[in-house]
Amino acid sequence: MSKRLRSSEVCADCSGPDPSWASVNRGTFICDECCSVHRSLGRHISQVRHLKHTPWPPTLLQMVETLYNNGANSIWEHSLLDPASIMSGRRKANPQDKVHPNKAEFIRAKYQMLAFVHRLPCRDDDSVTAKDLSKQLHSSVRTGNLETCLRLLSLGAQANFFHPEKGNTPLHVASKAGQILQAELLAVYGADPGTQDASGKTPVDYARQGGHHELAERLVEIQYELTDRLAFYLCGRKPDHKNGQHFIIPQMADSSLDLSELAKAAKKKLQSLSNHLFEELAMDVYDEVDRRETDAVWLATQNHSTLVTETTVVPFLPVNPEYSSTRNQGRQKLARFNAHEFATLVIDILSDAKRRQQGSPLSGSKDNVELILKTVNNQHSIENQDNEQPDYDSVASDEDTDLEAAASKANRQKASRLEKQNSTPESDYDNTPNDRDPDDLGYICRRSGLGAGPLPQRPSRRGCGQEAQRTACTLCFQTHKVVRH
Ligand SMILES: [Zn+2]
Repeated sequence: MSKRLRSSEVCADCSGPDPSWASVNRGTFICDECCSVHRSLGRHISQVRHLKHTPWPPTLLQMVETLYNNGANSIWEHSLLDPASIMSGRRKANPQDKVHPNKAEFIRAKYQMLAFVHRLPCRDDDSVTAKDLSKQLHSSVRTGNLETCLRLLSLGAQANFFHPEKGNTPLHVASKAGQILQAELLAVYGADPGTQDASGKTPVDYARQGGHHELAERLVEIQYELTDRLAFYLCGRKPDHKNGQHFIIPQMADSSLDLSELAKAAKKKLQSLSNHLFEELAMDVYDEVDRRETDAVWLATQNHSTLVTETTVVPFLPVNPEYSSTRNQGRQKLARFNAHEFATLVIDILSDAKRRQQGSPLSGSKDNVELILKTVNNQHSIENQDNEQPDYDSVASDEDTDLEAAASKANRQKASRLEKQNSTPESDYDNTPNDRDPDDLGYICRRSGLGAGPLPQRPSRRGCGQEAQRTACTLCFQTHKVVRH
């Protein structure tokens, strides 16, 4: 924690005293009650961390503090500051307002609808505007002015924008200039420290070249954030990247699981996922780890007699409308895994992330994530009328035929329920991989995968010494430089 004066700080949403949480991607501090609403909206809207009870990389906290102290909140409340708006009676929440509906409605309008953000005058071609904004971001990150960059990002500038004339991304520029807080902000918005510029160099290379050693180390950490977080969740340790250790694969104390044929089959299914689907699953598991850890902090820090009645834990990952309903269902099913089952899944993901990064080929059947999660769901509905949680082992069950049919039915019912809350059309998440060769790596750029989300690295495409190719992202269709194995 840095030494700063908290006494004068107030919640960015309701002006209540002494906020104890931060919204990292919004650059604001918030109180417990407002935080409960942020959490219910999901990480794609707000990434919350407790100021005292969540471990912080020091420069990430410094980034949020700098934004907060420089009035980043006015980005999200721009039109409320207009005297005309005050006249019209629109106002922000008060500390005395009820969480539901008052604070919740205000917070949804502010961050989900972006109702008070300054709108640019309408242009015929939105893509030109986005490109202009991205170019402005590209040049602004060389300065220390974080709030300008957050403003540009809030208006649609792309953190991974590849400048066609300059031949690099904003993170290259920030790294050359040694702007570590800008690098933190860009990374929160999905910038990839492993992206190569026109001459094949990454932001990490430029930070090292410029003697910005702290920045270079931090960029490597950001690159491994996904797997580091998963390892830390299980064993409380992170790999020693400085000494070339990039993965820790914790072992279960109960070795019987490792011997189980079912567990082996589950692992095999995971291994046969295309890189694209493996990355999506890994990101979803990352979000679930975050949900579980934040819930634990939440429960440990609440005054149970008052707050918990009105503001509760988040029982499963909130719907992200940018994902297909099938993926959203899969994400929510992760909440059903008990601690042992979830740990097994996390270990399998860590092992496979390492294998994929090292480029070890695998032949095997073609499967997809839905199949893995579907079997769990199905076991749950058929066997466990008594509320007993399914075993992750059961994921690998070979009695698939009957179970699958029942699971599909259950899924369809769930899907139609979900669609009522979520108007996003079905994507091909469920079906695509079946006709895809596992070796034909679907490429998904960080921006498509994450939005303003967390920062997982792409586990499989670093350090192989092979030549980079320009490859179209399967989601955003933009071309990126990628090393294929
Ligand atoms: Zn508040």
